[in-house]
Amino acid sequence: MQEVRKCAICGNEFIAKRANTIYCSGPCRIEANRRRNKANWQNHLDEKNLSREIKKRGKPASAMTLAEINEEARAAGMSYGQYMVSKGLYS
Ligand SMILES: [Zn+2]
Repeated sequence: MQEVRKCAICGNEFIAKRANTIYCSGPCRIEANRRRNKANWQNHLDEKNLSREIKKRGKPASAMTLAEINEEARAAGMSYGQYMVSKGLYS
């Protein structure tokens, strides 16, 4: 059950091996994810900046779980280490 499709990212035609495949290759799928995450974060930024968002939650970075810190860091485009330094948690 193969079908020629057009990649949603690069526009190349490719043979879809599965019914739900919409990208021609791994890199295009990753690019699609990256764009979606970026778009989500951009919408988020349109409303409030990161520090305000953290204040609103009333949770200092030192009280956040590792997963939450990782999430915030990634959302801000920083590595875990860079984020911790920016919060003054590393000296
Ligand atoms: Zn592609």
